[in-house]
Order: sequence, then structure tokens, then C-alpha cells
Amino acid sequence: MQTIDNFNFKNKKAIVRVDFNVPLDKSTFEVTDDTRIRGALPTINKILKDGGSAILMSHLGRPGGVAQEKYSLKHVIPALKKLTGTSIKFADDCIGESARELSSSLKPGELLLLENLRFYVEEEGKPNLPENITEEDKKAAREAVKKSQKEFTAKLASYADCYVNDAFGTAHRAHASTALIADLFSDENKMFGYLILAELNAMDKVLHSSQKPFTAIMGGAKVSDKIMVIENLLPRIDNLIIGGGMAYTFVKAQGGKIGNSLCEEDKLDLALSILQKAVENNVKVILPVDAVNADKFEANARTSHSKIGETPDGWLGLDIGEESVRLFSDIIKNSKTILWNGPMGVFEMPEFSAGTSAIARAIADATAGGAFSLVGGGDSVAAVNKNKLADEVSYVSTGGGAMLEYIEGKELPGIKAIRM
Ligand code: AMP
Repeated sequence: MQTIDNFNFKNKKAIVRVDFNVPLDKSTFEVTDDTRIRGALPTINKILKDGGSAILMSHLGRPGGVAQEKYSLKHVIPALKKLTGTSIKFADDCIGESARELSSSLKPGELLLLENLRFYVEEEGKPNLPENITEEDKKAAREAVKKSQKEFTAKLASYADCYVNDAFGTAHRAHASTALIADLFSDENKMFGYLILAELNAMDKVLHSSQKPFTAIMGGAKVSDKIMVIENLLPRIDNLIIGGGMAYTFVKAQGGKIGNSLCEEDKLDLALSILQKAVENNVKVILPVDAVNADKFEANARTSHSKIGETPDGWLGLDIGEESVRLFSDIIKNSKTILWNGPMGVFEMPEFSAGTSAIARAIADATAGGAFSLVGGGDSVAAVNKNKLADEVSYVSTGGGAMLEYIEGKELPGIKAIRM
């Protein structure tokens, strides 16, 4: 497998799949969080420093195959220019005449940004299907897009001598720019960028860690989203801390009273089977022991405190309580490998954010004590950032969905396309 470190980009044009799917201000279209752009800088800088040029391609939002001003990647140009210190050429159609001309005249040291790939349905390979057409017509439309997707991919590939995938956030998608394009480059001319390498390194470090105890902390709303992750982790971990809304499905399955707390009624048996598998794998499962309850799902709700399994009728648990924080924190601080995905409560509302903040703090403390900690998933990352702890954990993943699928043990199309 080719590596970016070994590759000399001198006089080469590299087409780089980056993840510039950044949040924009609704009225000024300014980039409000440039984390993802900064994530691509090591790769961009290596290409330019070697004396090569880079053609950057990405999606932004979900334009559904239709060109729309609010999803234009031109909005990221000022931030990209500032961060790279280089002027940016822009092709206003990713496979149009401008893209062909600008890429063909691109000189060493120059950067070209292509317009949003998802202005074409070919990027994702899925047609927009009207509801009132026959199954046969749907099938024909899908086949037509698959065919035109090949041409779309070939056009993108024709702009460059080599392909770099550095978009971890979309590595779990088999799209034109994330996976299919790799087939059009020889093994020596395709590679991962530094961001994907760092993500893979962090995840592999956690999955294959010999640094014990290994504690996984799972939270968020739904058990169903995390089942596969939990099942793949059970043979590897020592402790499984379960917080957030998903904890209540486990509490109810064990006969606890949960009031109106979040619960997936159809997952009660599954919760019991996870607990059983944990026993078989010698994994200690730690559920909250107390909770902060609310009389309605609102920031200004009346609040009360109860033991877990004793939520009063009509109330719902929206955060873990102080005793749970102490219990979870002790385990976290004694861990040497930590994986965190999902908040401990409705952390978006200040009244119910204390549990999540305390867990972020405990992970930072464990990291200071020598543990390796990986935090992933939009909400846990937001919680770490909100508490200004991003620099105090070992690695913050840029791809929630991709990270979960990798940890589930799935082969990600964007990874498989390069790592053979
Ligand atoms: P997920 O996407 O599954 O990681 O879920 C994240 C969401 O779970 C966040 O928006 C939280 O507000 C929500 N959440 C966490 N704890 C609870 C809870 N106890 N009740 C309801 N929602 C919760």
C-alpha cells in the first residue's frame, strides 16, 4: 500500500477527497467551525511542500443532486485561504469545463477547489425518485445513475495523477469520490491522507489495546444505534458504562420503574441479552444509580432527584445524578484505555448537562494520568469542545458514523478502496 509519507508529490497533481462539510452561518455563509478544514491541512501542506498541486473535492450538506447557492463550497474559500496562506482557484462545477481547464493549467504549489460534489446525484449514486413511478421505472432510474456515475468518477479522476482520501467522515460511504475513484488509480498512486491515518491509528489503538482496564462509555438516546458497537466491544473491554437515555431500556428490562423516561420497548429482551453476553465475556456493566428527573422534556422543567429504577410516575430522567457521576468517574480514572460515545444526559439543556461535563472531565483526568482516550460521535465531541477539553483527551474523532461502523467491525468502503 502506498503511503503519503513515502510519496513525492513533486510536479504531480493530486485529487484529494477532503471533508469540508462545515457549518455555515445562515445569513453570512461564513464558516462557523473550521475544525474539518484544519483537519485537512497536514495533507494539503505535504502536497504543496513537495512541489505538487492539489485539487480538493468535498460535499457540503445535503443538496440532493441539485446545485444550490447555500450549499456552495465557494463559502469555504475565505477560511481555506486564511488557513493555508495560499490563494484558492475555484471550479464552479465539479465536472464542468471550468474544472477541466483549471485542473489542466494548475501549477506546482497551487490549490484548486471543486464545487460541491453532491450537486450531482452521481456522487452518491442514488437518483431522486418521484413517488408515483413504477418499480420498473425506479429500477431503470437507479441503473441509469450507476452508469452516469462511472462517467462522473472518470472525469474527476482525469484531473489528477494521484488520489488521496482524507475524508474520514464519509469513509463509510461507497460514493464516487470516497471509494469508486480509487479503482481508477494504480496502487502506487492512491493513498490515505494524514487525517484518515490518524483516525485509523486511534481506533486501532483502542480496538487492539493491551492497556487494561479498557472502559467503554456509551450514552445518547438509542440502544438500537449502539448494539453492534457494544457487541463487537464486549470481547475486548473490561468495563461498559451505560448512561444517557439508552440506560433506561436496561433499567426497565431489569424491572426498574422509569416513569416517562426514554425507552425502546422492543429492545428490552435485547438489553437483557447484552447484559448476559457481558457476564459471559467477564465485562462489568455499570448503569447509573441515580438520576436528575424532569416533569417535562424542557429546559425550564421542574427537576427532582431519584434513585435509578424509582423515577416517579409522569417524570423522566434527563441526566445521571451525582452518585452516578462519582461511580462512573472512579472507574474512568482507573482505566488505561477509554472509548466514549454518546452523552450522559440531555446535555444541550444546561440543567441536564452536568453529568456529561463531569464524565468529559474524568476522561481528561484519566488521560493526564496516562490513559489513552478516544472520543467520537457528534454529541460527545460537542460536549468535549463545550468543556474546552479537546486538547486533554488523546484523540477526538472527526467522523461519528464512520467511527461507529469501524468499531462495529465493518469494512468501510473508503478504507477498503485503498487498504488492500
Ligand atoms: P445519540 O445520537 O444516540 O448519541 O443521542 C444523542 C442525544 O441523546 C442527545 O441529543 C441527547 O440530548 C439525548 N439524550 C441523552 N440522554 C437522554 C435522556 N436521558 N433522555 C432523552 N434524551 C437523551
